[in-house]
Amino acid sequence: MQKKTISTLIVLLIPCLLFAQKLSKLPEYKLSQNEVESHLRFLASDEMLGRRTGEITNNVAARYIAEQFRLAGVKPVEGQKDFLQTVPLELSKPAKFGNLVANNETLELSKDFIVLSGKETKLENIPVVFVGYGWIDDKQNDYSGIDVKGKIVVCQFGIPDNDQPYQNMIGSTKKIKFAAENGALALVQIYNLSFPFASITRNFGGEKLSAASNVNSDIPHIWVNSTFSKKFTKENLKTLSLNTGEVNKQSVPAYNVVGVIKGSDPVLKNEYMVLSAHFDHIGAGKNRGKVTESDTIFNGTRDNATGTTAILMAAQSFAKLKSKRSILLLAYTGEELGMLGSKYYAEHPLIPLKSCIFDLNSDGAGYNDSTKVTIIGLNRTDAEQEIIKASKAFGLEAINDPVPEQNLFDRSDNVSLAAKGIPAPNYSPGLTAFDAEIGKYYHQAADNPENVSMSYITRFCQAFIYSARLIANKPNAPKWNAGDKYEKVGQELYGK
Ligand SMILES: [Zn+2]
Repeated sequence: MQKKTISTLIVLLIPCLLFAQKLSKLPEYKLSQNEVESHLRFLASDEMLGRRTGEITNNVAARYIAEQFRLAGVKPVEGQKDFLQTVPLELSKPAKFGNLVANNETLELSKDFIVLSGKETKLENIPVVFVGYGWIDDKQNDYSGIDVKGKIVVCQFGIPDNDQPYQNMIGSTKKIKFAAENGALALVQIYNLSFPFASITRNFGGEKLSAASNVNSDIPHIWVNSTFSKKFTKENLKTLSLNTGEVNKQSVPAYNVVGVIKGSDPVLKNEYMVLSAHFDHIGAGKNRGKVTESDTIFNGTRDNATGTTAILMAAQSFAKLKSKRSILLLAYTGEELGMLGSKYYAEHPLIPLKSCIFDLNSDGAGYNDSTKVTIIGLNRTDAEQEIIKASKAFGLEAINDPVPEQNLFDRSDNVSLAAKGIPAPNYSPGLTAFDAEIGKYYHQAADNPENVSMSYITRFCQAFIYSARLIANKPNAPKWNAGDKYEKVGQELYGK
């Protein structure tokens, strides 16, 4: 080898060696694979019965995470007694019987109508009052000048001036409050959205665990199939009779786990880098999916004991070596039931959202390429280079969303904070396509801890933590890329 080549090589090697030396000083560089394996095997054990939200093992998982935080030296948010944030949920059990009689025609429960809430009620030949949308807000009051006391209120489905089906549906659930406050004996809404009534029956008429609503009341709240819309008009309907069973609602305890590691920089420590992951999965038994004789438990190793383990290992690394910015650790419950935990947190944050500069969420369907990590939203913020560099440092290529048409970004917990304006990609194991390898384990009983590569999961955790560290130490807080759909709400949040 010529002398010149050797000196060039040395010049080139020095930054690499310096980088390697710096990296080797980081706690994440020395991450213990045994420890990664032990968290993963505990969370995804058969004894945890799939960590379903609303079941005790979901709360055991929350407790485990909280105590691991304590062990690592993580603190509860200032002013909070503990790491657990109660997420109020309610289990709603459908009415066991019901009929509704309109002009001598008897409507059948679950086919022609559903009961959303209310105690057991029997009403005979009660006068009906039509009240438009049955809506009250700053702009309108459909009850103004109408006496509904002792009567059954019938109204059109949805809310005024809104063509969004989902918002109309959610808005409709709130209208029982107005009817009850005005003294009605029952509220009947005539369904009119384009989704088939059968899907409404499935989603609203069965046993369901959901966010606790503050709009319950004792009077029956009924949705009638649109096929009856011509019969339920002012001209054609003067009285109604009904006999409906109780919709039983019980509050169910569930918890997010929230911890803080204060940053080292006197100024930047007032800003928070959020690391989040959901710890719930879908449970056990044949009601939850396909089971076999030997395996009836949906262990959720990949989804999402892996992301949860990444949060636990991050807690340890950042407690050992602080980043400039503070770290906010969020372990969410309820993702599989509709992102209940992260949505609740976004509405009830324990640290002001505008002080949270970035959220690196970790959730995944599984992996089919252990040379990669897949970052949903990699190219949507200017933290892209930090994530690519940090992943590469642990031998992993960071790739972008391989299936943008599936809109994965908006289908996991990261969206709860993203929609509030916080740049929030989702850091997941290497997925290049939704192929047979992913399908074999995704939400399957076969998603067991025995069939993941512990060395890959360890490198995944290392790359996740180092990515978070580079972002938490970045001189300027990352931003959404120009033109991103959340750019505007981000600017509003941070006041830029
Ligand atoms: Zn998940």
